[in-house]
Amino acid sequence: MTTLTKTPFLFFLSCGVTVCVMAGLLLPVSGCGKATASAESDLKVIVLGFDGMDWVMTGEMIRAGEMPNFKRLADTGGFTALGTSIPPQSPVAWSNFITGHDSGGHGIFDFIHRHPETMTPYLSTSEAAAGTMWKVGKYHFPSPLDGGSVDLLRKGEAFWTVLEEHGIETTVIRMPANFPPSGTATREVSGMGTPDILGTYGTFSFFTTDQFAPLPSTIDGGELQIVELRGNRLDTHLYGPDNPFLVEPTRLSTELTAYVDVDSNAARFVINDNDFVLKSGEWSEWLPIEFEMIPSQVLPAIGRFYLRSVAPEFELYVTPLNIDPTSPAMPITTPDDYGNHLCKCTGYFYTQGMPEDTGAVVEDLLTMDEFLTQADLAGEENITQYEHVLSEFERGFLFHYFGNTDLVGHIVWRSMDPDHPAYDADKDAQYAHVMPDLYRRMDEVVGHTLENMPENTLLVVMSDHGFAPWRRVMHINAWLAENGYLVMKDPSKEGKNYSNVDWTKTRAYGLGINGLYLNLKGREMGGIVDPEDRDALIAEIGAKLLETVDPATGELAVTKFYPREATYEDAGYLHIGPDIQVGYAERTRGSNASAIGEMSTEVFSDNTDRWSGDHCMDHESVPGILLTSRPMQKQGTTLKNLAAAILFEFGIGEFPRDQISPSN
Ligand SMILES: [Zn+2]
Ligand SMILES: [Zn+2]
Repeated sequence: MTTLTKTPFLFFLSCGVTVCVMAGLLLPVSGCGKATASAESDLKVIVLGFDGMDWVMTGEMIRAGEMPNFKRLADTGGFTALGTSIPPQSPVAWSNFITGHDSGGHGIFDFIHRHPETMTPYLSTSEAAAGTMWKVGKYHFPSPLDGGSVDLLRKGEAFWTVLEEHGIETTVIRMPANFPPSGTATREVSGMGTPDILGTYGTFSFFTTDQFAPLPSTIDGGELQIVELRGNRLDTHLYGPDNPFLVEPTRLSTELTAYVDVDSNAARFVINDNDFVLKSGEWSEWLPIEFEMIPSQVLPAIGRFYLRSVAPEFELYVTPLNIDPTSPAMPITTPDDYGNHLCKCTGYFYTQGMPEDTGAVVEDLLTMDEFLTQADLAGEENITQYEHVLSEFERGFLFHYFGNTDLVGHIVWRSMDPDHPAYDADKDAQYAHVMPDLYRRMDEVVGHTLENMPENTLLVVMSDHGFAPWRRVMHINAWLAENGYLVMKDPSKEGKNYSNVDWTKTRAYGLGINGLYLNLKGREMGGIVDPEDRDALIAEIGAKLLETVDPATGELAVTKFYPREATYEDAGYLHIGPDIQVGYAERTRGSNASAIGEMSTEVFSDNTDRWSGDHCMDHESVPGILLTSRPMQKQGTTLKNLAAAILFEFGIGEFPRDQISPSN
């Protein structure tokens, strides 16, 4: 189906923030390797960001001699805890590092925010806005003058913008909360927050002939299709997003055919121009997948296929369809062709922000071993790419992000936690080595860096927060109901999207992992709390939260209570955030259901999910780490002041320098 006339379609024309800023900065990207020999001996700084690397566990492993390269750093430059953000959620934490502001200044308070006028939740870091459409018959076309755009919602100036203005070249790879990429670095690849081709944070496809498979509608994070074998042949479709050219919502799709050979325990697959054979248990390489939108336009993507089995049931997992870095449908790099350059050097790579497929293992569609293999593919591919980027690094500043330490940690943490309510020694104990192995692997990355970094390089190793077991779930909306702040229409029932909430009597509601909002008159759609009563109500709820005891453990469930005006130093974007952030006690966390407005009837429950470790708790219980190859002139102590300390090494004294005035 491929023809020469097909051109990739820029899904979002991005005439807004991203591309215009980038226009003046497009640099030719040449072949692999160093472009020119450097005669400079100026300072260079490399920052390695290991998401979620825990202060306590790292310290224990360093002391036990299991992380010799971290030990080298600890001996020569120091090893300290790094104060994290409130709340300690990754997009919030990394935004503190990027901007030198807290949430009041960068406007990211949680993974999820809400529009108070409609009470609809949205992802906090980027927003796709539909542009003006031209309608012609059954097709509609994005107007070239006002195309749909995707905007980074993080406010505040990124520290690398300031470095660039001082003539210091910057390379920023997979920085979270930087999608679309800022456009101000010399080279960028966007990180956490970058969607797959469907516009989600990662939606896998799963095909099975098992008629007793779970109902597709019950699967989160993936699309399950029950398929039928005719003889040895199976015909199905892989689905993309809605066709942006069609007026009626219609999913893009492309034909997928499989020929199953039970005797050789393998299957042959044909999709687009790809024709390949997989044995059971085998992964394909990355494959280009195209969706035809109109005869001259295709939407390019990439995917990997994993054949789970051919008999007794055929089962195929396909990764979320990622944005193709050689032909990106949305902006993911600076300059535009940097993704192409990286692909030439080390091959295709996961472009989605959080590639470890926690959804598939939580839904039991991948086993723990299969998930660990998948996460390892993503992690090793990232390390290979990093080693290449390092080999090209000659001057200025380099940041590279490693996410395995966080997302694998979420899934396997209970294997190290026999007191976890869902701990099963038979199933879990065998995975107790996974996190220590990962930490040792990151130690090798540090060792490789120390051996290969240019002269006069300061190496900084950091994480955005630590980790803790997540044993107990607190359903904040049920707590608010029990204490009379939230009133349900029918208290005996649960309900989604606040459908069971009586807003005429409700004074407060939970939304996001740590957020608690008042139902404020003049702000919320059906607000009833007078603004003059706001402070007293916040204090009253806070006092009650801090007294709340989990009956199953006899321990306090909440150890910090953060009213927003008293918590954040920066004020420009305070109005976006929750009135209160809840600092759950270590080992307790807010429920996923409450985070998106679901009501439950119980206040506390055991966490029986595979997602068994977390960090969205009292920020003092989960600090990050900081190690440096030599003492810095200014000691970074928190995520918020670390970038200023790095800029100071380059002789730049003022950061952050942007004054964010209160806005509304
Ligand atoms: Zn994180
Ligand atoms: Zn995490």
